[in-house]
Amino acid sequence: MKSYCCSAMQHFAQFECDYCGDKLLCPQSIIHEDDSDYGIIVHDDTKSIIQINYCPWCGSSLRKQDIFNVSKVSKENEIQK
Ligand SMILES: [Zn+2]
Ligand SMILES: [Zn+2]
Repeated sequence: MKSYCCSAMQHFAQFECDYCGDKLLCPQSIIHEDDSDYGIIVHDDTKSIIQINYCPWCGSSLRKQDIFNVSKVSKENEIQK
């Protein structure tokens, strides 16, 4: 199972509405996830997605390469202390 930065992101990324069927159309669905990107769904007629690089709830980076770099940097900082 895929891991998410926080329970709020997990909830909205995996959100499915039986009533609406289309995730982009459901007003309760606000996060769109594809292979490596996350976006906020704009609920107008365009069904557009605003890509986000950080989680709106916990602030974690949502870019996989950034997550790797951040954990590497923080480990190096700990060694210096
Ligand atoms: Zn999060
Ligand atoms: Zn719905």
